Amino acid sequence: MVTVIHSITFDKRERLKNAVVITPRGIVHVEWTCAAGDWCWFTSGNGDAKKLAMPAIERIKRCLGTRPAASRGDVRCRHCGRTSEDGSGVCARCHQTYEVG
Ligand SMILES: [Zn+2]
Repeated sequence: MVTVIHSITFDKRERLKNAVVITPRGIVHVEWTCAAGDWCWFTSGNGDAKKLAMPAIERIKRCLGTRPAASRGDVRCRHCGRTSEDGSGVCARCHQTYEVG
């Protein structure tokens, strides 16, 4: 049995959010989170499994990156469905309407 990346989940801005890595020593859950502007990741699982999962996690990071996408044209506003210019999931218009005040 080898270590495999079972699943990768992205948040609404298409950044890495969660991953599940299955190793011969158990399942490791990886969670990315934004701490003080930096993307950090945490693992849960037993120590041996984490050690075996590490190359897979490095591979995920290398392939997909953990930098927030500064501007993506394909992010849609969650209120109206128009393009969210800043990639936040809300367009400028709805930001004014729903998010301010
Ligand atoms: Zn909108």
